[in-house]
Amino acid sequence: MKSDERVRAAAIGLTTLLAATTAIAQPPSAERTLLVKAARVIDGRGGAPLVDGGVLIRGERIERVGPAAGMTADEVIDLGAATILPGLIDLHTHLTDEVGTNWESALLTTTPGRAAIYGAVNARTTLMAGFTTARDMGPTWPYVDIDLRYAIDKGSVPGPRLQVAGNYVSATGGAGDARQFSIYVDVPIVRNLADGVDQVRQAVRTNFKQGADFVKILATGAVMSKGIPPGAQQYSDPELAVAVEEATRWGRHAAAHAHGAEGIKAALRAGVRTIDHGSMLDEEGARLLKAKDAYFAPTLYVGHTILNDHAALNIPAHQVERERAIQGTQERAFRIALAHGLKIAFATDAGVFPHGDNAREFAVRVGLGQSPMAAIESATRVAAEAIGWADRVGTLEPGRFADLIAVAGDPLADIRELERVQFVMKGGTVYKSR
Ligand SMILES: [Zn+2]
Repeated sequence: MKSDERVRAAAIGLTTLLAATTAIAQPPSAERTLLVKAARVIDGRGGAPLVDGGVLIRGERIERVGPAAGMTADEVIDLGAATILPGLIDLHTHLTDEVGTNWESALLTTTPGRAAIYGAVNARTTLMAGFTTARDMGPTWPYVDIDLRYAIDKGSVPGPRLQVAGNYVSATGGAGDARQFSIYVDVPIVRNLADGVDQVRQAVRTNFKQGADFVKILATGAVMSKGIPPGAQQYSDPELAVAVEEATRWGRHAAAHAHGAEGIKAALRAGVRTIDHGSMLDEEGARLLKAKDAYFAPTLYVGHTILNDHAALNIPAHQVERERAIQGTQERAFRIALAHGLKIAFATDAGVFPHGDNAREFAVRVGLGQSPMAAIESATRVAAEAIGWADRVGTLEPGRFADLIAVAGDPLADIRELERVQFVMKGGTVYKSR
């Protein structure tokens, strides 16, 4: 399919989806119970699917999971031949980014207001695609993500439960340098550059003060920006270490944007929780990741969109060339991660490609040798563990939030079923049912 046809197809899908989701039900009160049942239930813990299973919900939470025949409730939603799964989790989104807008030009031609409006639209689209939780890896306009999280938590805007970065922490001239213009051009509102241990510490503290849930540090160069190449380590070891030290002191985690093999290892030695992208992970890096009990969060589908849809997505030629050079390495890194049995978490970089297409990442991973069940676990239990939320989301177990989705067929037979989510519930509220 040509790239313009593909974008048009995505737009048609979006229209249909919005038309089908006008009614939003209220969550059942704590006095009333709701049973959601279907032919199969996958609980996110990796075991065989439960046949003719049910999830009993009271208020926002799951009360019981088991054979549907043994359960009674005040209200029943019978999803028939469908498969119920935990709500999906994407550890790497950019919800406030308007797809097709280059972030550097957005800084020169837009205001944070536009990012907020598109954030609300994109959050809804992402939720309707079955993603009930997301870790948002940073807005173009700092701290707009914090306002988006607020509006979602308050119930004003439908969207996934969010952990947000607030602002990138980037070295001057590095992957997150929002001032990659002439020295005479300034974007005074965007203060995301930090050089040296003291500045990095201050940047991390500033983000947490403003309400960030974790710190995103740009350990290496990037595909999607100018400056040093993706493989080059950008922050020194002491700079990485102080970011983690400060995050730990606040009881939060550090996520490293890292492409190059040495940058990955440096970030792991510093103690980051997740390696995002991880394009050039090598054998030594895989061993270190395992020893540090960290999580590998590759983003593979985005590379396909950069190469295939760059014109429609308005991606500059030099960034397309960077992706072309790195794609084979990314696939090799994923196979290394599989061979080492690493904790692989689901991540996408949605925002570079259309929000709502997040689940297309699954087929790429399964195509590279991951089992469908492991791919599902990566976006449920494993992702929840990675962000410290295993006690509330990621699996269908008593006490967890009633965040669940359903697909028409069996995702273990066809992983692409996850691209066609039919039913979405978050915290006991049905957002999508068709
Ligand atoms: Zn990203």
